Amino acid sequence: MKTVGFRSIVLYLLLAAFLGGIGFLVVSLFLQGDKWAMQPYNGHIYAGDSTVTLGEIRDRDGGVLASTVDGSRYYSDSETTRLALLHTVGDTEGYISTSIQYTMRAKLAGYNIITGLNDTPLNQLGNDINLTIHRGASVAAYEALNGHNGAVLLYNYETGEVLCKVSAPTYDPADVPEDLEENAAYKGAYLDNTLSSSFTPGSIFKLVTAAAAMEKWPDSWLDRTYDCEGSVEIGGDSITCLHGDVHGTQNVYEAMGNSCNVYFAHLANDLGAEALQRKGEEMGFNREFQFGSVPISKSELQLSGANANQLGWAGVGQYTILANPYHMMALMGAIAKEGEFVQPKLTNNTGFFNGFSQASSRKLVTGEEARALKSLLRNDVESYYGDWMFPESMNVCAKTGTGEVGEGKDPNCWMVGFCDSSRYPYAFAVMVEEGNGGIESAGTVVSAMLGALA
Ligand SMILES: [Zn+2]
Repeated sequence: MKTVGFRSIVLYLLLAAFLGGIGFLVVSLFLQGDKWAMQPYNGHIYAGDSTVTLGEIRDRDGGVLASTVDGSRYYSDSETTRLALLHTVGDTEGYISTSIQYTMRAKLAGYNIITGLNDTPLNQLGNDINLTIHRGASVAAYEALNGHNGAVLLYNYETGEVLCKVSAPTYDPADVPEDLEENAAYKGAYLDNTLSSSFTPGSIFKLVTAAAAMEKWPDSWLDRTYDCEGSVEIGGDSITCLHGDVHGTQNVYEAMGNSCNVYFAHLANDLGAEALQRKGEEMGFNREFQFGSVPISKSELQLSGANANQLGWAGVGQYTILANPYHMMALMGAIAKEGEFVQPKLTNNTGFFNGFSQASSRKLVTGEEARALKSLLRNDVESYYGDWMFPESMNVCAKTGTGEVGEGKDPNCWMVGFCDSSRYPYAFAVMVEEGNGGIESAGTVVSAMLGALA
């Protein structure tokens, strides 16, 4: 009896282990099957003579951006569209690993749990992807970059739909340059600068310094003034305003509009490194963001150990600070929407097995801070940059920046902001490398992009 009992226990244990294993396999297949199927060892999916027909990728108006005809992959028939949307749509070789064609290959190949990756009618059912991309605005933004490298992002802060996503350097996926690897002009072309790069922010960081002041002196931040004589010595070295401009006595509205470095360098030192660091982190610096399955390059802020002069430069977005365009756009969306941050997305038809987008409603600013920052940003455009730059009634709120990068290079020119408008709920971040001014370089891109959306 004893032996039989022991045997049954062993059998039961084996059965339990077996069923557990099967259960684990089934659950894993449902959750991970599309990723397994798309692994590089399934070479036939990627091969030129692949029997797997990839679905179409279309823009928000149904315009075809990529399609497969007789086993070959074709892209938009407009060269400018191909160049503008390379990093969003993707390439045939799979170099652009953050693109839709790479990250959503399972969906495009029609992978499903029943027939796997085979070319059956079931696989070709619903394997197209409709993007939220506005082709006209993306092309306008690309053309306004005027040959510069940079990053352009715009999204609807109410729905999360990304309408513009342009990165340069770029190349034509329909006519891949032979010197792609050697030619310095294509250096970094595989990277999507909107998602995978971070840049010196310059004056757009003054928003963070201002928000830290709101938190530290809720009743008196608006009343603080500092005198600007074009330059000031802090911590044994000078902090200067752009072109040595003398701004005189400045309050926060004037200092934001004039982008007065002296004001914000004083403010940063009165705040202290700790308060500025904490506020920056609250607003998304050093934080991980995720766009679909793509991890975003972090915006970096590290103020511990900074001396008074370095802290002054940090207050105006220099020192070692880096900002990522995707994060900046999300921050602008949060300010536009009273503090609520809606997760950006590139498509509405992801489907259950193809990476459902994670809901995220993390706070980047409080409602009160959002309203105060919006008022500062609106004043920048109304009283300093000029509403004439943008289509009528868009009510643009914005801040420019020129991030000095050294090495004898011209600065990174930024414009970040949003339309305070229910008809045009757009937030944007634009960065132009080696430009000649925030308004001149980045403002021109914003102007062209919004013009195409008007
Ligand atoms: Zn100044």
